[in-house]
Amino acid sequence: MKNIVAIYPGSFDPVTNGHLDLIHRGSKLFDKLIVAIARNLDKTATLFSMEERKQMLQAMTSELDNVTVDTFEGLLVSYCIQQNANAVLRGIRAISDYEFELQMALMNRKMEPRVETVFMMPAEQYSYLSSRIVREIAKLGGPLNGLVPKMVEERVRERVAQRYISATGKHLL
Ligand code: ADP
Repeated sequence: MKNIVAIYPGSFDPVTNGHLDLIHRGSKLFDKLIVAIARNLDKTATLFSMEERKQMLQAMTSELDNVTVDTFEGLLVSYCIQQNANAVLRGIRAISDYEFELQMALMNRKMEPRVETVFMMPAEQYSYLSSRIVREIAKLGGPLNGLVPKMVEERVRERVAQRYISATGKHLL
């Protein structure tokens, strides 16, 4: 039997129910799944620090024995080799994800043919969900129930309120 270790990379700013749906599916398929928070140099203005994102992911996946949470910098394929991983897990929501994901998967395969990319689809109700939309709804005071776990919702609301106070000197209504 093969021992399949998969890396699920992303920014997880914050973790959503769509990410968790994929993590549950992945934990059933792979022997070991490492959820890896990427330090993305382009995303300068993140809502949460790497450590905060890691803590939230750990809290939300603690019941899954074969899932661990880590952070990484640099090339994903180099991190895969360092972790002895043979697969990368990515989620495909809509057709719009496909082109970018195809390019990434083919480029990663060219750089490191030992690592295969595996795509999974979330449950339909999460197919329009992204961390970005969660951050935007929170900034506009909209409802987050069903999109992120309760604990994450509280952390997001708290952080958005803090940011609003530091930017404007006023409290959010
Ligand atoms: P987001 O796109 O939410 O900012 P990330 O950059 O953290 O998320 O994405 C990490 C991975 O998780 C990507 O493969 C992305 O396609 C996938 N993903 C994100 N949201 C969902 C979702 N709702 N359903 C399935 N996969 C998702």
